[in-house]
Amino acid sequence: MALSKKTIDIIKSTAPVLEVHGVTITSVFYKNMFANHPELLNIFNHSNQSQGRQQTALANMVYAAAQNIDCLESLLPAVKMVAHKHRGLGVKPEHYPIVGQHLLGAIKEVLGDAATDEIIDAWADAYGVIAQVFIDVEADMYEAAEEQAGGWDGFKEFTVADKVKESDVITSFYLKAVNGKAIPTFKPGQYITVRIHIPGETYALNRQYSLSCAPGRDYFRISVKREADFKPNGKVSNFLHDHIFVGDKIEISAPAGDFYLEIEEDAPLSLISGGVGLTPMMSMLDAIVNTNSNRKVTFIHSARNEALHAFAAEAMEMTEKLANGEIYYGYENPINAAGIHHFTGYISQEFLAEKVDKDTICYICGPVPFLKNVVNMLASLGIPETNIRYEFFGPAMALEKEKQEAK
Ligand SMILES: Cc1cc2nc3c(=O)[nH]c(=O)nc-3n(C[C@H](O)[C@H](O)[C@H](O)COP(=O)(O)OP(=O)(O)OC[C@H]3O[C@@H](n4cnc5c(N)ncnc54)[C@H](O)[C@@H]3O)c2cc1C
Repeated sequence: MALSKKTIDIIKSTAPVLEVHGVTITSVFYKNMFANHPELLNIFNHSNQSQGRQQTALANMVYAAAQNIDCLESLLPAVKMVAHKHRGLGVKPEHYPIVGQHLLGAIKEVLGDAATDEIIDAWADAYGVIAQVFIDVEADMYEAAEEQAGGWDGFKEFTVADKVKESDVITSFYLKAVNGKAIPTFKPGQYITVRIHIPGETYALNRQYSLSCAPGRDYFRISVKREADFKPNGKVSNFLHDHIFVGDKIEISAPAGDFYLEIEEDAPLSLISGGVGLTPMMSMLDAIVNTNSNRKVTFIHSARNEALHAFAAEAMEMTEKLANGEIYYGYENPINAAGIHHFTGYISQEFLAEKVDKDTICYICGPVPFLKNVVNMLASLGIPETNIRYEFFGPAMALEKEKQEAK
């Protein structure tokens, strides 16, 4: 359906209001939708809700859609990023009318009389068009996930074949298909969604975990950080650490995600990570080693200290196998100040200037403050925006906004 000029004008005129009231609207939206459809709590991440991250992410998306309603194709990269998550979580076309009904209801509830019938009607039309973009993109992703060799739709049980401690807080889980069946390939950097039913929890809990080894093996490996620094402790990560053992079965989605290594590129490559953000980098490094490439690869990792530095030996061994590989790591607060490390405290612009050439393609993953810093430092060093590729372990649109504000 094409939107009329009048509808487009109305939607665009509401963009400034959405910028101001967006998070209030999406907060009301989620509250009302979950009250009326508690079954959807089996799909959405409850912690992102309680921390307000999901509300912010959706508000950013609605605002971006309002601003670009006459050129929605410009939002396709953002749509695809969200669609990958939706595919991994099992968001289906039948969920969109429920979302639409509650989003329009929330706009009306928050804006009151300012949301005239004309505005609500225009948003109803616009929502229909926006929802269809998502539904179409997701339909292709569902089909691709199911039809690839070894693929499946939704969630499938895998057996934990091994459980390996990688640092004081990160533990790897090796996941094999039940009955030794083939598993699909994936792109280094992609993630799977793990669905866990914790005794005493009413709803299933879904969490994404990046695959931390190269494709092409008979297992997936995920490496999970125990989230225990804040109260309440992280539910799924602690459950996996404490209650999932070799031989247990867990349900996972097929791999998804648009943060992945373009393996055929040959420009110098920097894999830069902070904390548990090194998991997709391990997959990328492993994949590069398997290609026997001459590509220059610089692996840079920042950890809080030696005890929390996961994969130290594995990353070193892999880098040594490369024709042209370098590895650097640093600690925020080293336990042994005289021990080997290449920087202390936070990674600095001077350090990056020395190690990262201007023509380098950089993949970055880590906590939000780390990401913001590194991305902004690389941009200041003149690395083109297209060569700065990053992932953050939360709703992507929430980060976009924070990054804009940090500029
Ligand atoms: C694409 C992607 C890839 C990822 N890859 C990895 C990976 O490779 N390894 C990895 O370890 N993680 C990864 N993550 C993160 C992972 O999905 C989980 O978010 C993480 O394990 C925490 O989940 P949890 O259930 O343990 O914590 P949650 O229960 O979700 O809690 C998370 C945080 O929220 C806080 N919190 C919970 N409830 C509240 C509340 N009511 N109010 C305020 N704060 C609250 C908790 O204190 C905790 O600090 C990835 C995420 C994404 C999106």
